[in-house]
Order: sequence, then structure tokens, then C-alpha cells
Amino acid sequence: MKDNGSMSLPALAYEGGTRAMTLTPVIGTPRRKHAEVFIPGEETLADGEMRVTVLGSGNPWPTRAQASASVLVEVGNPERDIFVFDLGTGSIANYASLKLPVNALNKVFITHLHADHMGDILTLGGSLAKVGRADGPVYVWGPGGTEPRLGTKHFCEAIHEALAWDEEAGKGHINPESTKIVGTEFDCMKTQVVYDKNGVKVTSFPVIHCISGAVGYRLDFAGLSFAFSGDTRAGWPLVKACEGVDLLIHECFPPAAALAAASGLSIEQATMTLNAIHTSPKAAGKVFSLVKPRLAGLYHTLLSPQVVSMLFQELGAVYAGPVVQTQDLTVINVTKKAIVSRQAKVVNQLPPIAGKQRATFKPVQIPPPAWWAEALIPID
Ligand SMILES: [Zn+2]
Ligand SMILES: [Zn+2]
Repeated sequence: MKDNGSMSLPALAYEGGTRAMTLTPVIGTPRRKHAEVFIPGEETLADGEMRVTVLGSGNPWPTRAQASASVLVEVGNPERDIFVFDLGTGSIANYASLKLPVNALNKVFITHLHADHMGDILTLGGSLAKVGRADGPVYVWGPGGTEPRLGTKHFCEAIHEALAWDEEAGKGHINPESTKIVGTEFDCMKTQVVYDKNGVKVTSFPVIHCISGAVGYRLDFAGLSFAFSGDTRAGWPLVKACEGVDLLIHECFPPAAALAAASGLSIEQATMTLNAIHTSPKAAGKVFSLVKPRLAGLYHTLLSPQVVSMLFQELGAVYAGPVVQTQDLTVINVTKKAIVSRQAKVVNQLPPIAGKQRATFKPVQIPPPAWWAEALIPID
């Protein structure tokens, strides 16, 4: 443990820390005992439980320590459905470390179409069809824009179009259904239910970020609730849609001085980015004090010991509730009795787990291009 002024916070995971970055790792009284670290594959999700895992806690530039934005939600319904909110670059590598089936990662809710929130959709659509998802499309929900070309449907069609060669090259041995990316878009200005199935309801609400066309989400399941801000400034629609949720993960940038030092921006530019586009620790504290979640989570921060210390101090000055600064692979178990925050301990190299396929596909041999006959070097 490291002493941060009046607080004792653990070391960062990328520096060898094994605990979640919070002063309140356990809120309430858990019904069962949790291991100190989360080991993928060793804990089944209980009926009615919700488990939230941050796949990407970071920035537009992915690093080995932090993938770009993405949060995974597993729910304890009979189907054990999996949802992912945003899929920024690098987040699929973190998903792959969790020993979850590849074909379960087929429901993606995009908050907005900044590349750091959707960069891995191409990998999900193209590459994961080759290593497990052989049984159907990827479904993507997201905001419609203020014109069709700025909406999620157009984005999905364009990504699928960009995968034309990839798909053609897989003809015969990959189910063409599994390379499809099906986009569903909705009015970005309304608070509305956009998904309702198997006991899980997802509601979208508008957020304030750069231009119109960015949303946040709230997921409700079995009396438990999770909300994700995406990128935003402090805004009323989020507060109204999320009041009293169990877990709210809200974006929070570092203070301007830390942002300038980390990014090379001038203090003026950093201040502008922070105030005009994102949320400062002070603003996040204001939002949390209005929403009153059982646990407040932060993401979208360039993590360093100095930044974390500054964040907790600035936020702590305006908000006294429990807070976790999420890192990649922070795992949060949510039940009515308790909320437990831990870090996962994963292995770096795992073979993909395909998962139970919902459809079968019979491969057929496609004749190779004629010119290969002469070009190939014969090997005995
Ligand atoms: Zn953004
Ligand atoms: Zn972002």
C-alpha cells in the first residue's frame, strides 16, 4: 500500500498492484467469500448477480497498460448474457484473458463513434469470426446521428464493407453470417429503452460531448443497475436516467496540469479539452452527489500514481461516497447485499474458447486462383 497524503491506495495494476484502486473494496456484506483477486474461470456467476469488468479504462492512444474505452457486463440470467459497452482498441485482448466464450461477445452498445470507443469492432466482426464466432452476426446498438452518415447504422455498414476482402477470403470455410455486423440505431436525443430481452433492459440517454450523437447507457437486471456515461460533460439527462443506480462508471479526466504534463498539450489546451469536452474530478463529484450510486467508478484517465492521487484528492473534496478508479481488468461484483471491487489476475496467452454454437456451418473447398498452380513451390 502506498501513502497518498491522508489516504492509503494500492499500487497500480500495471506496476504490479493486485487490488482495485479504491478505499472501499467491499461495500455491504457479501453473501459469499470472494478471493482476494479475481481469477477468470474460477468463479461462476450466481443467479441474479451482475459482474462488471472494465476491458478498457484508458485513452484514445491504447498502451500495454490501458486499452481504450470498454466495459463488459455479465448478468446472472438463465442465458448468462454478456453485454459490452463500447469496444475501444485493445479491449478485445482483455476480453480474451477472461476465459469467456468468443461467440458470447455479440452484443455491443456504442456510446459514440469516436475511434477510441469503437476501434475493435473491426476485429470483432472480421477476426473473431475465424476463431470461435461461427454461428451468427455481431449486433451493434448505437446512436443515430443528426444525419444518416453520422449514425451507427452507417458506421456498421461501412465497417462491413471495409471487410469485403476479409469476407471474400473466408468464402467456403467461414460462415458468411458470422462476419455480418448488424447495426441498430436510435434517436440520440431521447431517453429510451433500446433493448429488452431475457430480463435485461438497456436504456440510452443523451450526453454532452463534442457534437450531438453521443449517449450513455443504463442496464437494469433483477433489481440491480449499472450505468456508463461514455464521454461527457456533467449533464442532467444522465442524472435523471441514473439516479440511485448501484454502479455508475463515469468518465473523469485528470486535472488540467496533469493532463498537460501527460499529453504534451499546453495548460490552456488541456483546460479547454477538460472543460469543453470532458469531466473534471470536481464535476464528476458533483454528478455523483446528484446520482448517489452505491459505488461510483471513474474511467478514461491516463493512470499514474501522481494522477490517481490528484484525482482522489480533488474528487474527495466534493464527494464523500465510495469511489473506484477503474483500471483494465477491474472486476466489480454487484448484488443487493454487496458490491465488491477487485483486480483480475490473468494469463497473457490463452487459446480462444469458441462457446456453444447456435448454428452449424459446413465448410466447402473453393478452387484456388489458377495462377497459383505455377507460382507455388512444390513441397513433399
Ligand atoms: Zn469521445
Ligand atoms: Zn473517449
